[in-house]
Amino acid sequence: MHYNLVTLSFPMPWLRGRSLPPEEQRRARLRRVLRAAVANTRYARGYDPGAERFEQIPRVDLLEFLCHPERYTVENAGARLERLHYPIGDAPRTAVIARQVDETRRVRCFSGFDAAKVPAFAPQALAAPLDALRAAPDTPALGPLRNAVIVFTGILEGPLTPEDGDRFWRRYQVPVFEQFLGFGGELLAWECEIHHGLHVREDAAYFEGGEGDRLTVSFLGNPRLPLLRLETGLTGRLVTDACPCGTASPRLVDMRRRTVRRVSSAGTMAAAAAG
Ligand SMILES: [Zn+2]
Repeated sequence: MHYNLVTLSFPMPWLRGRSLPPEEQRRARLRRVLRAAVANTRYARGYDPGAERFEQIPRVDLLEFLCHPERYTVENAGARLERLHYPIGDAPRTAVIARQVDETRRVRCFSGFDAAKVPAFAPQALAAPLDALRAAPDTPALGPLRNAVIVFTGILEGPLTPEDGDRFWRRYQVPVFEQFLGFGGELLAWECEIHHGLHVREDAAYFEGGEGDRLTVSFLGNPRLPLLRLETGLTGRLVTDACPCGTASPRLVDMRRRTVRRVSSAGTMAAAAAG
């Protein structure tokens, strides 16, 4: 009897949440983050706390955010460790470099490639930040991998370039998967085995494409950073057609870093024409 009560009472909130139509889910997420931002941060005090659409919220300039992160941060909010999202099935023995995730029997965290413990762990897959992989030697000290390389990218690191992808594939001889992280290390978008764009994790991020494919992101799953509509300095497109992998969430495709230079308007036009 006790068992029945537990099984009946647990799934219900989950089912209620899941049964909301996507538009309603999006509004609920916006309301939740907007409430946290207005109550706990300096930047959002002028916002309309009753806004119903992301488009009603002013955008935040990336440079302004980077210069004054304290205005956007909720200092005493707890952050929780995420599990590593492995792109296909269960994670094999995976070494995660320079990112804290919730460790499991097969997923272990290491501070860097030079840690003597990484080769001893004999990883079958490797997960590391883009900058660390770019700086690592092309003849890896760890033994051959069997499964995958996961590359952590983000707003500051920029997206994975085709050259990076080729280089890491030649170095490790296994498929390369990109995962785009937020400022708290939370997963915002991930590449599936089809390798055509990054699936947005809709409970963690809301991406919008704007003029000239400029990407804006709202962070929905980081309690320390209830930041809405940040200009990412990246360009890209959102596609919503069905992915053969079966995951329904929209994908970010053709993500690139937007080159920003302080030049005269004539120089800007020349740069735009050249690009
Ligand atoms: Zn897919």
